[in-house]
Amino acid sequence: MVIETHNSKETFDLGFEMGSKAQAGQITCLLGDLGVGKTVFTQGFAKGLGIEEPICSPTFTIVQEYHDGRIPFYHFDVYRIGDVSEMDEIGYEEYFFGDGVCLVEWGNLIQELMPKETINVTLEKNLKKGFDFRKITVDNGFDC
Ligand code: ADP
Ligand code: MG
Repeated sequence: MVIETHNSKETFDLGFEMGSKAQAGQITCLLGDLGVGKTVFTQGFAKGLGIEEPICSPTFTIVQEYHDGRIPFYHFDVYRIGDVSEMDEIGYEEYFFGDGVCLVEWGNLIQELMPKETINVTLEKNLKKGFDFRKITVDNGFDC
């Protein structure tokens, strides 16, 4: 599925819709360059889960937990990870195969750990279509 957005609200709204439908055990991988809108999408996703707390980038802790929504939300940013063993150290399996919803920014960097049913969301710019244009591809692992 490909969605085109023309401003940050539309990207937030897509995140919101996916967060509203998210089920326990679901893992979403978020891909795209810096400044493309991963945080905007995540904020919408969290809001869709009923989370009112502000979403902060978990860069220095790898994972940030939110427990005030409909189901637990585990937000990962693995951009600065040096080695996949760091994922073992934080006990990633408890999160990935637990009772909540996981969203992993830069999940391609730990590809070998990502379950095959991961939903991949890829955000891309296309400056020919304007500064605020984004092409967002949602790939459901079950479909391919
Ligand atoms: P990332 O987390 O991928 O580094 P951010 O979400 O922090 O990126 O920032 C995206 C920036 O792009 C924000 O300043 C946002 O307002 C802007 N922006 C412009 N158009 C869009 C769009 N269509 N979707 C998402 N963000 C957009
Ligand atoms: Mg970000």
